Amino acid sequence: MRAAYYKGQKHFSVSEGQEKAPRPTEAKIRVAYCGICGTDLHIYHGKMDARTGHNRITGHECSGEIVELGRDVTDFRVGDRVVVRPLASCGDCPACAAGHSHICHNLNFMGVDSEGAFQEYWTVPAKLLHRVPEKISLKQAALAEPLAVACHDVRLGEVKAGEYVVVLGGGPIGLLVALVARERGARVLVSEINSYRLGLARELGLEAANPKEQDLVQLVKRESGTAGADVVFEVTGTEAGAELMTQLPKTRGRIVVVAIYSFRPTVDLFGFFWRELHVCGARVYEAEDFEESLRLLAEGLAADTLISGVHPLGDLQATFEHLEADPRAMKTLIDCRA
Ligand SMILES: [Zn+2]
Ligand SMILES: [Zn+2]
Repeated sequence: MRAAYYKGQKHFSVSEGQEKAPRPTEAKIRVAYCGICGTDLHIYHGKMDARTGHNRITGHECSGEIVELGRDVTDFRVGDRVVVRPLASCGDCPACAAGHSHICHNLNFMGVDSEGAFQEYWTVPAKLLHRVPEKISLKQAALAEPLAVACHDVRLGEVKAGEYVVVLGGGPIGLLVALVARERGARVLVSEINSYRLGLARELGLEAANPKEQDLVQLVKRESGTAGADVVFEVTGTEAGAELMTQLPKTRGRIVVVAIYSFRPTVDLFGFFWRELHVCGARVYEAEDFEESLRLLAEGLAADTLISGVHPLGDLQATFEHLEADPRAMKTLIDCRA
């Protein structure tokens, strides 16, 4: 079978890989589609070499079909269409003991810390599988992972019907957060500086504004009858986002930090004190978020509008090279069967 190996310094090599027979509690998946995530771009740039090394099969947003099962797996069958929740936890650290195994202290994020899905066949623990509902295509199902991120974020943000939500950052995760929040009955404003992404947000029926052209603080004040936003999601990972996030919420409003910051931004703690703001971090997802994600996809949530390209596994290198130069790139999928 073919597999793509990250070799360091912006280089992938697609070559012959080893198929692995499933151990008793594992399943072997024929990978269909695997999305390229922001994390994969960080890996490509060598920023995660300490975790990946220079011979790692990456990729963690996949859909596929079970081709072989370990002898102890009873709740799945060969031929089942599935997605993988790529988080292997240790089971005995304090986070696992407290029921937060998704942020296990010794978390193995598959596709980063161990081998991932940019290959034809991927063998994984069966307990990490979720069955794909019939209505959903395997292409749509490849969005289950990023959509599960958004479900987790919105769940931790406790978004309720009728609330006014501001999402800072209109990339794939930001727009998915906006769609899920709207699904909860919230009114949603997306803040984004890329004009293509602004247009896409509006195409999805979301309100959208460019904070470089409009005073976002004034806009949110006006749109909320001076109160401010109920919930703000910070998805930009920028200094500007960290600056804005404390200026937008209402009294006792919530801020959900979704972005992965690669530096320590300046945060206005006085803003928290003055309005008694609440902040929470939201990292990856739990099993229930994956189930919710698949349910929303089956109900027709337009997540696949974000798919901006599908490329064969053999073109992985060229796909990464083009991705960065393309302002219209949203969610790119790799077809591991092509
Ligand atoms: Zn991802
Ligand atoms: Zn653990």
